[in-house]
Amino acid sequence: MEQFRREFLADISHELKTPIFAAQGFIHTLIDGAKDDERVRDKFLQKAAKSLDGLDALVADLLTLSQIEAGEIKMHRERVDLVKVTHEVIEQLEPRANQREIKVKLHTPQDQIFVKADAYRISQALTNLIDNAIKYGRDGGKVNVTFTEDKKDWEIEVKDDGPGIPPEHLNRIFERFYRVEKSRSKEKGGTGLGLAIVKHIVNAHKSKITVMSRVDKGTTFSFKLDKIEEKLAGF
Ligand code: ADP
Repeated sequence: MEQFRREFLADISHELKTPIFAAQGFIHTLIDGAKDDERVRDKFLQKAAKSLDGLDALVADLLTLSQIEAGEIKMHRERVDLVKVTHEVIEQLEPRANQREIKVKLHTPQDQIFVKADAYRISQALTNLIDNAIKYGRDGGKVNVTFTEDKKDWEIEVKDDGPGIPPEHLNRIFERFYRVEKSRSKEKGGTGLGLAIVKHIVNAHKSKITVMSRVDKGTTFSFKLDKIEEKLAGF
């Protein structure tokens, strides 16, 4: 436990230092004279802002993760319309997908699907998975979100046709701060915590997240949620 705590602190300090160090560098260079050149000024201000946005995302993810790990966040499992939640997530991420000409599609056999879940947390998990599929997918690619009915549950699948993840990394990607390509994740604004958060949320729903991936073909993440049978009115 003590070693875990030490490693966690060391990891966090390192991750925090990177964006702080970058923003600090740009701002000091501006103060030292770069501000007088208009083009350099705009470029450096934008870079400093990007680093601080990254810092903001990192702190938000750290907070979520530590709250979930400490068990402070109780899942409020209630009747949730999966279709509605997923549409909202896709809508939010659409501008990012459009930037890279990626088509995100939802395949659902019904207009409404009711599951027992914490709406906010499931929306957060779906956001992380679909955001990754867009972030790491290929330009002009496809992201398909599919719901499949089982006896007791609904399976949710998020599939991309991006570069995939080499098999030797597959069982480590859910660890906090684990990245397959460090520079690529950072350049894309990743915090390295997205999948760790997804895993915690899915586990808190007494379910499991699985991943299948083939290099150059794409990656599929999936998990199940308990279904709620709709009682027919009048029976
Ligand atoms: P990050 O903030 O770096 O995206 P995540 O925890 O969300 O962190 O993901 C961990 C790593 O797993 C990423 O850095 C990336 O290398 C890899 N990864 C996640 N999703 C995908 C995907 N859909 N396709 C390819 N690689 C992925």
